[in-house]
Amino acid sequence: MKKKAEAPNIDGYVDTHFHVLHSIKMGLSHEEILDAAFNSGMSFGIDIATGPEDFDERLTFAADYPGLFLSVGYYPSWAESIPDFLEETLVAQTRKNDKVVAIGESGLDYHWNYGTPEDQQKLFSRQINVANQLKLPLIVHCRDAQEDLLKVLRHNRAEYRGVIHCFSGDYSFASACVDLGFYISFAGNLTYKNAPELREVLKRIPLQSILMETDAPYLSPEPRRGRTNMPSNVRFTYHAAANLLNIPVQDLTSMVRSNMEELFSLPQS
Ligand SMILES: [Zn+2]
Repeated sequence: MKKKAEAPNIDGYVDTHFHVLHSIKMGLSHEEILDAAFNSGMSFGIDIATGPEDFDERLTFAADYPGLFLSVGYYPSWAESIPDFLEETLVAQTRKNDKVVAIGESGLDYHWNYGTPEDQQKLFSRQINVANQLKLPLIVHCRDAQEDLLKVLRHNRAEYRGVIHCFSGDYSFASACVDLGFYISFAGNLTYKNAPELREVLKRIPLQSILMETDAPYLSPEPRRGRTNMPSNVRFTYHAAANLLNIPVQDLTSMVRSNMEELFSLPQS
């Protein structure tokens, strides 16, 4: 039997973006997902919200892992019917537990027609305001909406900054986001053959602006492409990125971890 490729453990790596409950729906248990990550060297990870309804369930497994943190927020699809008590809900969830370190994932997705672009911008702006009120960074999703995203972020500044997650644009969009104080987070698509532009972005933006993520259970990096993704697979993306940058993987890991600690005000390791 052919041995499957395994990324070597990396001390102190982080995964800034994954969805544990989505992975559970795909048949994995939260222990399988989180034990694999923390046992292979992960220091910190953030389980990302797509809506408010499953917050209590997410809190129960977060309690068992000191390195696991949470975001709270509304995915762009909520633009189809924006909830009345959005602000109150996010404030209450954040104040309920000190595991909450960010607002999101919010943002704009014009690939899918969720409501109108105006509805999406309204939903996004209201979450920027809550993030500012709670002094938290934002997790931003952007698909086919770069120009409007920059417009919203320039008009309504995210005072505690944030991250453009699963980045997929070109260098000029990345550098506009960096100028606004945002971090650029690279996911498994960095390892895909058809992504030379993304690799160029990685090489050109400052190391101080780089974050890494899986977006698990989606977007498995090579050589796991096509399979259900897990936070522990982010090690393949670290190795690919360190190769491109021509630096030791441990140096990249330390840099990304300290970027994450700074942005999300995590305990310094
Ligand atoms: Zn996501």
